[in-house]
Amino acid sequence: MNIHEYQGKEILRNYGVKVPNGHVAYTVDEAVEAAEKLGTDVAVVKAQIHAGGRGKAGGVKVAKNKEEVRTYADEILGKVLVTPQTGPEGKEVKRLLIEEGCDIKKEYYLGLVLDRATSRVVMMGSEEGGTEIEEVAAATPEKIFKEVIDPVLGLSAFQARRLAFNINIPAELVNKAVKFMLGLYRAFVEKDCSIAEINPLVTTGDGEVMALDAKLNFDDNALYRQKDVMEYRDLDEEDEKEIEASKHDLSYVSLDGNIGCMVNGAGLAMATMDIIKHYQGDPANFLDVGGGATAEKVTEAFKIILADEHVKGIFVNIFGGIMKCDVIAEGVVEATKQVGLNIPLVVRLEGTNVKLGKQILDESGLNITSADSMADGAQKIVSMVQ
Ligand code: ADP
Ligand code: MG
Repeated sequence: MNIHEYQGKEILRNYGVKVPNGHVAYTVDEAVEAAEKLGTDVAVVKAQIHAGGRGKAGGVKVAKNKEEVRTYADEILGKVLVTPQTGPEGKEVKRLLIEEGCDIKKEYYLGLVLDRATSRVVMMGSEEGGTEIEEVAAATPEKIFKEVIDPVLGLSAFQARRLAFNINIPAELVNKAVKFMLGLYRAFVEKDCSIAEINPLVTTGDGEVMALDAKLNFDDNALYRQKDVMEYRDLDEEDEKEIEASKHDLSYVSLDGNIGCMVNGAGLAMATMDIIKHYQGDPANFLDVGGGATAEKVTEAFKIILADEHVKGIFVNIFGGIMKCDVIAEGVVEATKQVGLNIPLVVRLEGTNVKLGKQILDESGLNITSADSMADGAQKIVSMVQ
């Protein structure tokens, strides 16, 4: 789960990580009020959307007085921001962060991610802050420094110090940078983050080390024990189909293609997307209905797939191990009864109760093409949507 920058900064503040003062605003008047509360000359008006790259897209503006705060707030609120991270359709700005203007001396990058290759949390830093870290990684990888963190010991002060020196934080600010890094690491672990990215981390004219941006991402599987983080969820920022899927405990990720996939098991779901790609098709989604899905759950899953207007055909690929083929078949039939089906449907069933499942589909009167293998099914659905 993602949260907004201002929410991330609220969390970080509780861990002693320095961030500028700021207030959230939903309207232009609230934005001006927020600037008055700050009481600083310069205030920064920042679009709050679940995507980075806002600065370059016109979503971050420095205002020199209250009138400019009003002008920029009016300009940015309601605007659809298109950044490299929003996709071409962009995201509408519904909230602003009105923040103290900061006297930036230099911008750095600091990030914490889970490195799956080493199964460790890694802290990464670079003196090339402000720009996209992907570009730094591609052009000047030697400017990215990493500290691999032992899960038992946690981030040690010496590692933080080494990283601070490596990225050329001025010597007199290294202690502050270390405190910042230790606080960020503690927030990452205690809040079950999967990403914590500070870009830029800045040193300021008055000798501070602070986070000007904050991107925190949380492990969905841990949200049950992070009630306060859950409070930050902003449904406006999420894909409607994914919200619906999460209500039914379905693992669904919406994609750009036109072949809807209904599969059981994450591995099989990945393999199904691969084989569709292999035959030059494009999956519209990842969907794992899970092992113990009921007919109702399958019905909901099918409805979510059909709700995507880009879907021109559906491929159901089920291996009935724990899941029974007849349950899937019942769900498919029930869902199509409820919402109708006027696009091709290819079904490949294998495993427990496969005969019964096929019988249910045959007797349903639905126009279903059955497939004998994954390859056969993928080829059939790809040729049918073309
Ligand atoms: P994004 O990464 O989405 O573009 P940032 O929050 O990183 O948004 O802001 C973009 C740039 O705007 C920063 O690199 C920084 O130069 C400037 N900026 C952001 N917040 C402030 C602030 N409070 N004071 C001064 N400059 C800021
Ligand atoms: Mg940024």
